[in-house]
Amino acid sequence: MASTHHIDAALTRELRPPLSPELALLEADRCLGCGGPYAKAPCTLACPAGIDVPGFVAALADGDVEEAAQTIFAENLLGGTCSRVCPVEVLCQGACVLQHEGREPIAIGSLQRYATDAVLTSDEPRLRERAPATNRSVAVIGAGPSGMVCAGELAALGHKVIVFDEHDEVGGLVRYAIAPYREQLDPLPAEAAALTALGVEFRLGTPSSAPDALEAIAGADAVFLGVGLGADTNVPYPGDDLPGVWNSLPFIEAIKTGTPPRIGREVVVIGGGNTAIDVACEAIRMGAELVTIVYRRTRAEIPAYAHEVAEAEAEGVRFLWLAEPVRFLGTHRLDAVECRLMSLGEPDESGRRRPAPVNGSEFTLPADTVIKAIGQRPRTELTDWIDGIEFDHGALKIDPETGQTSNPRFFAGGDVTNRGASVVEAVREGKLAARAIDRWLSCTS
Ligand code: SF4
Repeated sequence: MASTHHIDAALTRELRPPLSPELALLEADRCLGCGGPYAKAPCTLACPAGIDVPGFVAALADGDVEEAAQTIFAENLLGGTCSRVCPVEVLCQGACVLQHEGREPIAIGSLQRYATDAVLTSDEPRLRERAPATNRSVAVIGAGPSGMVCAGELAALGHKVIVFDEHDEVGGLVRYAIAPYREQLDPLPAEAAALTALGVEFRLGTPSSAPDALEAIAGADAVFLGVGLGADTNVPYPGDDLPGVWNSLPFIEAIKTGTPPRIGREVVVIGGGNTAIDVACEAIRMGAELVTIVYRRTRAEIPAYAHEVAEAEAEGVRFLWLAEPVRFLGTHRLDAVECRLMSLGEPDESGRRRPAPVNGSEFTLPADTVIKAIGQRPRTELTDWIDGIEFDHGALKIDPETGQTSNPRFFAGGDVTNRGASVVEAVREGKLAARAIDRWLSCTS
């Protein structure tokens, strides 16, 4: 059984730890400062938030950490969180010219963390200057990444912004569902404080159905929906109610809120997305001896990033390809997962080959804990209380250029519209919608 000591250690072992000042300077000095007045650097082009990477890295090389952080915050108000959770291997660092020359890419994520931490841990962290008040108001539903960024951008433009969230803390999925080895808590509280200083009002522990939220939503000039996705997709299996069977979101939330589950020696994770990888790597950090991800297709089809699959394997996670669970076995608690083999047939409408069970191929995997990381449900209940909005294949329909829904007073971004993409994609969408809301407010009275 994993000990508390193991779990405490796991919570402090970060994937992207802080750099020392000496290392940060040495690393920043390696940057070639690509791009120029007529062409952006490839690392900037690869950043969904559009951060001027050579600009902030050059400021670090000059020893001006404040300038570096302001360059980051100019494009990404959650630059501190993104420095920890961004898949930089497939974004900025993956595009770095040094990588394409066969050298180590610049450690952009770590340098971004170094710069933003310096400001966010200062006495009065400042993200932007605030424009004069406009007397226009926006209600933001959801204090996840898209809602926080949208709110901050609008507050900087002088609008009155109130953010409602049913949770008691900001951050949405970053706070409650991203594995602690990526981000446990910091810098979210400092980012929230800096947004508050910029003029954002957070009303936490307040669901959108609460009377003051309903009143603010009804009275706002515009509303941004950054409500994310719902609970885990419910795929029922016989034995679901055995102790030791978890859904991924409550499992990670339990760790992050200080009540880590006892996981035992053998852990089985079901699913193939980045959450499945997160959960499996976290289980290794919590002391599990054998962690197996069961995925019903092959490595070629898995939706998780290839580099994260490779990193998980390097950490000791085992992948069982072409297999799916049939039932969970045990009397008083989980003992094993019965699985069966799959084969791939013709492609479905998305182009992925359909898995089909192989008759008579059942086998059992011993397991103390099983975690289902199969996906999350769409928030289609929004259509019950907002006239005119529509969903398409589980995604809230928006104009991709503006984030505006088919009800013009409502805009949206983040997981509710993209069905679960990266945090930095939610940042991009929150920023885009904020600028569109600002333009829309200037055309309406
Ligand atoms: Fe620096 Fe690499 Fe970006 Fe060039 S591509 S500016 S070397 S980080």
